[in-house]
Amino acid sequence: MLVRFMEPRGSFRAGECCASLSERTVQELLNAAIVEVVVPSYQNPPGAPLVQFNGPVQFTQDEVAAACRRVGVSLALPAGSGLDGAKVLWALSGVETGFGLNCMPRHEKGYCTGKYSLHPTIVTLTKRWGHAAHSSFGVWQVMLGNLGPNASPESFDTAVGCAEIAVTHINANILRGCTAITLAQIADAYNSGNFRDAIVPEVYIAAVARNYLVPMPAPKMAPQ
Ligand SMILES: [Zn+2]
Repeated sequence: MLVRFMEPRGSFRAGECCASLSERTVQELLNAAIVEVVVPSYQNPPGAPLVQFNGPVQFTQDEVAAACRRVGVSLALPAGSGLDGAKVLWALSGVETGFGLNCMPRHEKGYCTGKYSLHPTIVTLTKRWGHAAHSSFGVWQVMLGNLGPNASPESFDTAVGCAEIAVTHINANILRGCTAITLAQIADAYNSGNFRDAIVPEVYIAAVARNYLVPMPAPKMAPQ
């Protein structure tokens, strides 16, 4: 379901989250000059999933491996890291979604009602996408908010698109400025946001290390 809002002319207060928006009546929303309709995902029918997503929620290991090979070369690993960008992506995909097996969006409460819900990007995305704005998507389960205020869940429709998003995120937020980095540090930052803090997700880090050694399926020959 595409949810598209026109700018509601200041009807919503900064920081207002979906929980309070959902109590508004349709008339209030119309009065707020929302001209395109709108069955917002935060007004889901009973029994409907919290996050509506029409894109693929599963990719084959061949698709994921191909995306890792194609996009992994763009990972800005410092010279001498000894790491293979494709295998770093492959290892992270294994922990995040079982190498593409389960790419259902995951809703993060901290972005819905917690401290991140007040971030201007999340406030903007919530108006347009409802609970999807508080969710991670795709093979690498990147938060929608990482793509900025104009983000769309459609960006996660292909394995290559998912890989490009993951690489952009890792390069900008994890690798930038690093002159030496280990797989454990990348895994730590990918999971907890930062490897220079007190949070060290050891189970996650160990799983990434194991997955780095899981052989990727061989490249498929192009059709003749
Ligand atoms: Zn939410």
